[in-house]
Amino acid sequence: MSKKIAVFPGSFDPITLGHRAIVNKAYDLFDEIVVAIGENSSKKHYFSLEERKQHLEAVFAGKDKVTIATYSGLTTDYCKSIGATYLIRGLRDGKDFEYEKSIAIMNSQLKNGVETMFFMTDAEYSAINSYIVRDILKHGGDASAFLPNEVLKLL
Ligand code: ADP
Repeated sequence: MSKKIAVFPGSFDPITLGHRAIVNKAYDLFDEIVVAIGENSSKKHYFSLEERKQHLEAVFAGKDKVTIATYSGLTTDYCKSIGATYLIRGLRDGKDFEYEKSIAIMNSQLKNGVETMFFMTDAEYSAINSYIVRDILKHGGDASAFLPNEVLKLL
């Protein structure tokens, strides 16, 4: 049987406790989870690609089935190129749902063989947003309630 590979794509600028919890929820369902940073040249990032990759590698160091990658271009093309047939996305609220719904349906209409699986965030992480974390960090605030310890150590 072929390996069941899932891609969890995102900016991870930076990875938060919310992202980590989504990977943990999905962990037992797949043979491999590729946490993949999408390189989007038109988007300005707070942490460099290399820093974000380092954060992810530190957070998932103990998880055998998790690998970290970067990609550019269409997410579904990337999935195809590595033989992944599932996409993982996290949902915090109705806004996430509305946004993700259109992308998932359009992807499925493209018949590219990639199915999106959604995982509901835990209540305690439902307000965590990388954008707000970046704002806190930019202004020298304390973001330790929102970030994994491995990331805090690297800041
Ligand atoms: P993007 O730039 O594509 O939105 P993000 O890095 O912000 O990428 O998020 C990647 C995925 O993680 C998305 O599916 C997003 O909904 C999910 N996510 C972000 N924050 C949380 C959270 N606190 N709890 C659960 N899922 C989350």
